[in-house]
This record gives sequence, C-alpha cells and structure tokens, in this order.
Amino acid sequence: MTVSLQRKNVVITGGTKGIGLAIAKCLAMAGANIVITSRHQSECNDVAESLSKIGGKAIGIQADITKEEERKKLFSSLSSTVGSLDILINNAGCAITKKAELITESEWDTVMNLNLKAAFFCAQEAGKLMIPKRRGKIINISSILGIKVEKQVLPYCVSKSGLLQMTKALALEWAKYNIQVNAICPGYIKTELNQDIIEKSHESFIQKIPQRRLATGNDIGTGVIYLCSDDADYITGQQIVIDGGWLLN
Ligand code: NDP
Repeated sequence: MTVSLQRKNVVITGGTKGIGLAIAKCLAMAGANIVITSRHQSECNDVAESLSKIGGKAIGIQADITKEEERKKLFSSLSSTVGSLDILINNAGCAITKKAELITESEWDTVMNLNLKAAFFCAQEAGKLMIPKRRGKIINISSILGIKVEKQVLPYCVSKSGLLQMTKALALEWAKYNIQVNAICPGYIKTELNQDIIEKSHESFIQKIPQRRLATGNDIGTGVIYLCSDDADYITGQQIVIDGGWLLN
C-alpha cells in the first residue's frame, strides 16, 4: 500500500463484513481514521478494535442508515468523535433474489431504501460537513449489475443503476465545492450477501468471468483507496469496474 490517507477521516457504512470490511482494512493500512457503522454496535466495536491495530484510529458507531434519525445522529456525532469528515464510503447494501412476478412492494422498498435512498441521504449529511471545508470525497459502491442486468435480481439492478446516476448527478452539483463523487462497480465476491447463490453454482459463476476467479476484498479495496487519494482529485462522476472482465462477455 503506497497511497497515504494519514489524517483523513472516513465513514464507511456497512463496514463490519464482506466488501465493507475489506475496504476498511485497506483504509486502515493507508493510515486513515475510520468510523465503522452497521446495525450492530458489538460488531462495530470488534471491527474497530481490530482495525486500530493495523493503523490510524478506528471507532464503531451503530446506525441503521435507512432510519433518518440514526443517520443524522451518526453524522452529527463526528465532530465529537473524529472531528471532521473527509471521505464517505456508501457501501451498505442488500439484495433480494426472486422472480420479477413474485416481488412484493415491501421487498422493493427494502432494497431501494438501503441501496439508493439511504446512500443519497448519507451523502447529503456528509455534504453538510464537507461543503463548508470545500473538500471531500464520496465513493458509492454500486455493482456490475448496475450496468448489465441478470435474472431474478430486478430491484437490486434498478437500485445499483440508480446509484450510478446519483453519483453523476451529485458530482455535477458538488464539483463547485471541490467534492468528488465516484462509484466502484465490483464483480462477484463471496460474502453473506450472495454466498448461497455462489456456493450453489460456483463453476457457472467462474465460467462467466474471463479471469476465471471471483474478486477478492483487496481487489475492491485498492480501487477505493485510489479514488480516496489526492491523486484522484481531478476524477469525478466516474465509475471504476473491478470485475475480472465479467462485463466484457
Ligand atoms: P454483506 O451482506 O456481506 O455486508 C453488508 C454490510 O452492510 C454489513 O456490515 C451489514 O451489517 C451492513 N448493513 C446492512 N444493512 C444495513 C443498514 N440498514 N444500515 C447500516 N448497515 C447495514 O454485503 P457485501 O459485502 O456483499 O456488499 C457490500 C456492498 O457491495 C453492497 O452495496 C453490495 O450491493 C455491493 N456489491 C457486492 C457484490 C458481491 O458480490 N458481494 C458485488 C457487487 C457489489 P449489519 O447486518 O450488522 O447491519
């Protein structure tokens, strides 16, 4: 890890597991101070403790980011915990695997509320801290399914595509504040989100990936670190696809 994020304060939503945890480890190795959030305080504490052994400061704050009050409390608490905010990683996400004709309104809302609505309103809260400083970076974790559709994950595809449009629209509005907004589109990586599907049809997943392997947490984390770095100050409204060539098929 050659990029330095020393003294940068980062909030990462859904940082206790899977891709979020992998990103958090990369951020810690780069020296950032990290605020880990999820719906479970004890898991946030455990992850924060292990991250602080790698580098920088790390604290865990419980927040269900689909709830306005908890979201606002998370961002307003930053002044008394880490002091300020330089980087937001909008990572928390969920999926529902079902045929289109069976999706209920409440399942649609669950996916949209977390993957799209909460991501925007977290960015809005982050903006309140970044705009006065005229500096900040927001990284939205979208997906290859925000670009290309697959069967039986319709709300997920729509939410991740919406997140890419949100990335561009916000980048356009906040460029004048020197806030860069970008997205990462990971390919498949085995996490709690999809382990059942991947385990059931592992070989067919691999066959669809030109590089013939799933992504690792490090593959995704290093892409995020680049977008967080000062080297990426002139990049905004963009998406980086990290998928071993999956989208080329
Ligand atoms: P996981 O299910 O492994 O982890 C999700 C994280 O989000 C957990 O820390 C979870 O903690 C937290 N979380 C869930 N709901 C909320 C909520 N309402 N408020 C706050 N935190 C919440 O997911 P992945 O690591 O697989 O996915 C991370 C991101 O990457 C998602 O946006 C996903 O769409 C995207 N992605 C994943 C891919 C994959 O192959 N896995 C591929 C492409 C994109 P807790 O449950 O304790 O709240």
